[in-house]
Amino acid sequence: MTTLLVSHPSSLEHDTGPGHPERADRILVLERTFESEIFQMLHRELAPALDYAALLRVHPADYVERIKAAAPAAGLIDIAEDVVMSPGTWEAISHSIGGTVAAVDEVMRGKVNNAFVAMRPPGHHAEIARPMGFCFFNLAAIAARQAQAVHGAERVAIVDFDVHHGNGTQQIFWSDPSVLYASTHQMPLYPGTGGAGECGAHDTIVNAPLPAGAGSKIFREAMATKIFPRVDAFAPDLIVISAGFDAHRFDPIGGLHLEVADFTWATARLMEIAERRAHGRIVSILEGGYDLIALARCASAHVQTLMGA
Ligand SMILES: [Zn+2]
Repeated sequence: MTTLLVSHPSSLEHDTGPGHPERADRILVLERTFESEIFQMLHRELAPALDYAALLRVHPADYVERIKAAAPAAGLIDIAEDVVMSPGTWEAISHSIGGTVAAVDEVMRGKVNNAFVAMRPPGHHAEIARPMGFCFFNLAAIAARQAQAVHGAERVAIVDFDVHHGNGTQQIFWSDPSVLYASTHQMPLYPGTGGAGECGAHDTIVNAPLPAGAGSKIFREAMATKIFPRVDAFAPDLIVISAGFDAHRFDPIGGLHLEVADFTWATARLMEIAERRAHGRIVSILEGGYDLIALARCASAHVQTLMGA
């Protein structure tokens, strides 16, 4: 197995201010984690800058320009609730999108088996023309569209195990039968969407809400009975993972009680489906995860699993 790790130092320059959970330290701990000897076989790439064509397949040009123009020359600015921009934010956004696109390109061309995009800001709350919940642009959606538009993928499945529902991803693909969006998340919790009855216009949205306090057993049961069979039956050409690790029991924002082993388990099951349906192709994109130790351990286990270690 060859696993690609995509990163860029600009992820550290998106400054969200003191006390903000979605902070540069998240990437610093991942950088340190992936320096370990167990990761020496990773194929590493520096994320290129923004691919506008890929971005504009998901978000309209006026929204892109509005966000770009909002970046301050100095200091911090709130552009939406919990969405902060600093002078380095646009550069971080640019490479997070460029890195996502590069990961899809490498996986779809068969240069690597799978990829992990370890960058920020995250993306799954970003709607078509609205920043939300630490997110500006929807990386998982950009990945799915890149696979379809450039690499001829007919169907893409996006599996989201972040503790929060990916309202943005759901909105973007609500009426699109070519993309399956399947999510486990705590409910009730921000952003409030993701009820089991929200199925999309073509029954290609699959929501498995979990109650606060749910742990391994309930999570694995939901994945095994509600998510995996649907992903498998969809027969995707690529699986995109919205890999948030804030469902871990240590997370200060989420109220689920997952263990590191649950992320390993879910990753391994998705790899089995990908092997069967998608030539093993997986592009995993970092979303949330706000306890630094838990984030490092979960991401480490996730990537080791992707490596087949
Ligand atoms: Zn989250």
